[in-house]
Amino acid sequence: MSRRADNSLSPKPRGECPGASSFGRSPDVREETAMHDHRKLGRELGLFDTDPLIGSGLPYWLPDGAAVRHTLEEYIRAAERRAGYRHVYSPVLGKRELYEISGHWSHYSDDMFPPMDLGGEQVVLRPSLCPHHAVIYRSRSHSYRELPLRMAELGAMYRSELSGVLGGLTRVRAIQLNDAHIFCTLDQVAEEAQAALEMIGRAYEALGISPSRYRLSLPGPGGKYVAAPEMWRRSTALLTDVLDRSGLSYEAAEGEAAFYGPKIDVQITDSAGRESTLSTVQVDFHQPEQFDLHYIGADGAKHRPVMIHRSIIGSVERAVAHLIEQHGGAFPAWLSPTQLMILPVSEAELPNAAALARRCVDLGLRAEIAGPERGSLGARVRDARLVPYHAVIGAKEAADDHVALRLRDGRRLDPRPAGDVLTRIGALVDAHSTVLWDGTAS
Ligand SMILES: [Zn+2]
Repeated sequence: MSRRADNSLSPKPRGECPGASSFGRSPDVREETAMHDHRKLGRELGLFDTDPLIGSGLPYWLPDGAAVRHTLEEYIRAAERRAGYRHVYSPVLGKRELYEISGHWSHYSDDMFPPMDLGGEQVVLRPSLCPHHAVIYRSRSHSYRELPLRMAELGAMYRSELSGVLGGLTRVRAIQLNDAHIFCTLDQVAEEAQAALEMIGRAYEALGISPSRYRLSLPGPGGKYVAAPEMWRRSTALLTDVLDRSGLSYEAAEGEAAFYGPKIDVQITDSAGRESTLSTVQVDFHQPEQFDLHYIGADGAKHRPVMIHRSIIGSVERAVAHLIEQHGGAFPAWLSPTQLMILPVSEAELPNAAALARRCVDLGLRAEIAGPERGSLGARVRDARLVPYHAVIGAKEAADDHVALRLRDGRRLDPRPAGDVLTRIGALVDAHSTVLWDGTAS
């Protein structure tokens, strides 16, 4: 019996930012199929794996999976930099008192790893990044002119999932979270929340995924929520207004809020029809109080900022699991572990293939050579069916510094200068396009 099933009977507040947001449905028979699907594909494609010696819920990333993850993380960091976020690093451990102040200890300790005793104090693997970011904010004084202050981190957090519910990348004990906290005035909340929703929309477009629905997650009966009715009323009104003005259709759901406040959750559905939260935008009046955060206003007096918690792709693990299932391993070219498979027709073209591979590396493209030792050209093309671009080099192409490009979708282009091909692919990759070539979707 998993805790998740218990949760579905008695709603329990979500811990914090999105990595901990659990599946919104109780497990059923389909869950096994879905987990199996993405685990199977991930293993077949050499993206990630697990080992009992490392432990359940602690997957490791193989080089191809690491290439996908790194590319995804860099996309997020660049998008955040463009949107005015500043990145920080904070440690994965914190003293127990930190989580007592944040409220995690009293509301969320069931999902936390037990504390470690260390020289008379207790340290805990963090269940969220929020308390660290609140402390970082508090470490310096801030003027109203600095707000909104957007603090982002792709950081690890931990969740003491029971081993019975662990598997693949969707239920893990170590989570890499795309997290950010925006410290702002009450007047700035709506605009910041709206901007975060728009970032989510752009990311989904680049990733080739679509939300199944937007959810306004509210507290439910029986949950351990922070008791502050006026705070809940204000934050719910703010998020409702943001959703209404965004024109997105959404549903309100009781029992899905974080313990400190309501949230907008962007739901995705996996290949078995099971729903989970990927992205989130949350308004929090609670932690700024708990950590006594303030800024100096235009009047010279201290004021309390509001904290917005937001994540664009949620946890990297869940995002990649969803991408694997959504695309069946045929990632958009910019995310593909191998973007270009170079196929010399015979051994005579191997030097040309090696030279082309070198040019790819110099351009930041991920290329691989599949030479004739791997079988017939047809067999090599089939083996590379998930790779977006196949560059075939025969004697004629080698003599002209051309390649005959084949696309993953079966299209074959006339031989053209290798430099032109790489430039075009590089431009599509840089644009995070889901288009393979000339305006046709992959
Ligand atoms: Zn947070």
